[in-house]
Amino acid sequence: MRLKKALGQHLLVAKDVLSKIAQLIDPKEDEVLLEIGPGTGNLTKEVLKYPFKEIHLLELDPQMVNFLMENLKDPRIRIHNEDARYFDFCSLSPDLKVFGNLPYNVASLIVERTIFQHRCVREAVYMLQKEVGEKLKKGPSWLSTFVRTFYHVDYLMSLPARFFRPPPKVQSALLRFTRKENPPQMDLENYKAFLTKLYSSKRKALKSKLPEELLISLNIDPMLRVEALKLEEVLLLYNTWQK
Ligand code: SAH
Repeated sequence: MRLKKALGQHLLVAKDVLSKIAQLIDPKEDEVLLEIGPGTGNLTKEVLKYPFKEIHLLELDPQMVNFLMENLKDPRIRIHNEDARYFDFCSLSPDLKVFGNLPYNVASLIVERTIFQHRCVREAVYMLQKEVGEKLKKGPSWLSTFVRTFYHVDYLMSLPARFFRPPPKVQSALLRFTRKENPPQMDLENYKAFLTKLYSSKRKALKSKLPEELLISLNIDPMLRVEALKLEEVLLLYNTWQK
């Protein structure tokens, strides 16, 4: 099959890596799974070796969808020819385990989409570009803070380009997001707007983005840069700024 660069089609081909990832996804008998960008189903086939309730495959490319329909026969599979950036994950189940070797050009958007639907996503295991993975784990970036507000982030492993066909120009990383026990309840659009503003012009002092009195009242030095803030401080600022 001809692979489409514009759709980030870099297939994972290393057998031991595929089985290792399936093991890390660790499907359980009663779980509903969602795979984003299954491509030709290399990872799907490894995951199908485990017991679970059902698996939804979300794939944008109709050619891949046809391939999957012809080659993967398992009554637990449901295929959706849709765009993961706009898909309503919650329409599938209120309790999903999501995974995928993501198309790297839109990986951040898919991560963002996941957070917007975190109420239905208990856990996510994503392969993405290494720098993106490292930044999500450590920050500073609005998206990293957005993710870490709702999930514990584990960096599971790095993968060199040679495990993929065709090999991408970048290294890859596998991350696990595990939803927190009591994630905060908030208006997500509003929180995103706050974070994108807070993390814009990262070199500028906090006082250029938020009222100085607010910072002082919370015992946060107005001259600090955003990277100095702990997650708890960001949340405290958000909750106080809102009122
Ligand atoms: N998981 C497969 C393929 C990964 S490549 C493997 O490991 O071998 C990324 C896959 O995501 C491709 O199949 C591509 O067609 C699909 N894709 C690209 N953009 C997408 C989007 N917006 N929504 C859903 N799937 C997408």
